[in-house]
Amino acid sequence: MTQFAFFKGQIVPIEDAKISIMTHAFNYGTGCFEGIRAYWNEDEEQLYIFKLVEHYERFLRSSRILLMNLPFSAERLAEITVELVRKEGYREDTYIRPLAYKSDELIGVRLHNLHDEVAIFATPFGRYIESEEGARAGVSSWRRIEDNSVPARSKITGAYINSALAKTEAALNGFDEAIVLTEDGHVSEGSAENLFIVRDRVLITPPVTDNILEGITRKVIIELARQELGLEVMERSIDRTELYVADEVFFCGTGVQVVAVAQIDHRTIGTGQIGPIVKALRDLYFQVVRGQASKYRAWCTPVYAV
Ligand code: PMP
Repeated sequence: MTQFAFFKGQIVPIEDAKISIMTHAFNYGTGCFEGIRAYWNEDEEQLYIFKLVEHYERFLRSSRILLMNLPFSAERLAEITVELVRKEGYREDTYIRPLAYKSDELIGVRLHNLHDEVAIFATPFGRYIESEEGARAGVSSWRRIEDNSVPARSKITGAYINSALAKTEAALNGFDEAIVLTEDGHVSEGSAENLFIVRDRVLITPPVTDNILEGITRKVIIELARQELGLEVMERSIDRTELYVADEVFFCGTGVQVVAVAQIDHRTIGTGQIGPIVKALRDLYFQVVRGQASKYRAWCTPVYAV
């Protein structure tokens, strides 16, 4: 159960972290957010927050696109988060949700001359997609938001209507997840996760100029693939039908973690089972995030005193 939140500059009981229905961000989607995971390491009785400062650096970049000037550094936000999660006392995998939002209670769509607030809560969280070893995906009829209309590299709350439309269409059509194309028809990403394909042992993922969210997990996967598996990784545009002929396909993101895709638009990918490269990357990823790989321990922030 979630007991606390960081709200209006302090940690308060969650019941006291309330906003008015007149709040600007509630009316117009003028906020930005992050999704961060913390992993319970049973052997060490420790909770590790993964890539904490990097998430807050992206948070601050998102906020600047919304003309916010938040009075916190990424390091300070990381400290507040550790304090909040420690106070909750969680001994299980946890999801952390920071938000920055236009808090004024007034009518008028704009970004300037408004006040910004930061709020953070943390809540226990497990799987995001049930079939992690063989998800069924469908290419969405919805297109990914474009940088010159709604910037995709900023995690803007209002922008997630795009993800919600795609996800719900996919779910109602019997798929686990959506794959969304750019307006010019190239593969962008999943509804809330980045995408990789494997062709002839080369990992390929759309570039940051194809309207993706610049994923932290994506960057981690690229590094682990190169450093630990010695794989070649290419960032280039992907055609829709390359999805169908790929040897392996997977989603990655803080929420989904690493999920193998077994079918796309009713076509079987590879053997229809989780492939060797996705399996290796997935195993490695879970070791790293739980603080079990000493080489990458610096990516994990311990919550409790050691
Ligand atoms: N794309 C979108 C649209 C997302 O919401 C997310 C989740 N933050 C991702 C990709 C994956 O990003 P990350 O690995 O940083 O969680």
